[in-house]
Amino acid sequence: MNAGDRLLAIKETIPESIMLIAVSKTKSETEMIKVYNCGQRHFGENYVQELVAKQASMPSDIHWHFIGHLQSNKVRFIAPFVHLIHSVDSIKLLREINKEAIKNSRTIDCLLELHIAEEETKNGMSVSEIDNILQSKEFETLQNVRICGLMGMATFTKNQQQIRDEFRSMKQIFDHLKSTVFSQEDCFTELSMGMTDDYQIAIEEGSTMVRIGSAIFGTREYKQ
Ligand SMILES: *Cc1c(COP(=O)(O)O)cnc(C)c1O
Repeated sequence: MNAGDRLLAIKETIPESIMLIAVSKTKSETEMIKVYNCGQRHFGENYVQELVAKQASMPSDIHWHFIGHLQSNKVRFIAPFVHLIHSVDSIKLLREINKEAIKNSRTIDCLLELHIAEEETKNGMSVSEIDNILQSKEFETLQNVRICGLMGMATFTKNQQQIRDEFRSMKQIFDHLKSTVFSQEDCFTELSMGMTDDYQIAIEEGSTMVRIGSAIFGTREYKQ
């Protein structure tokens, strides 16, 4: 099977209401085009330089998702075209995204990255850090960013119950924010959780977007 066939096989396992993002970091454009030719239009990337290069040469109807750790000083490179930034992990970054969105006369959709895994190494914010941002005076002034939901990664473990518990708590936090801070905002709808090894559990626990790389493109040379 090539990457296109694997994409189609995975799509069979995912309800149509759930967005599948093909995570193509480190993968060649040749591989990506196979997937594109099977109808895939949403791709996820982790590295700014790689994303910018691919966006310049690949078909213009692709929606590019940024899912990696984003440094404030690199926002300007992706601000003109990025479809959704999944990995907002500070007010500083949000401020920068807003600034670059204004320069490009657009609104940039973002997810707040929640730290749900037990590992220290995974990025993301605690619930209280997220609350602090949402309650800050500054947040109200950021008119060119739109918070569309949350993103998170479960612990890298074989313990399926732990993964399920982590996704479940993330859904509860999402529901809480949706019924409080975001109760007047129709755009707060997305819960980006689930990767190759755990997307089935994530969907059962309420994910609306899964980010799948290796199950489509094969294993990577290096992993973030
Ligand atoms: C690499 C990556 C993925 C995809 O991982 P796979 O296990 O290959 O599906 C998903 N989300 C993030 C944030 C990633 O960095």
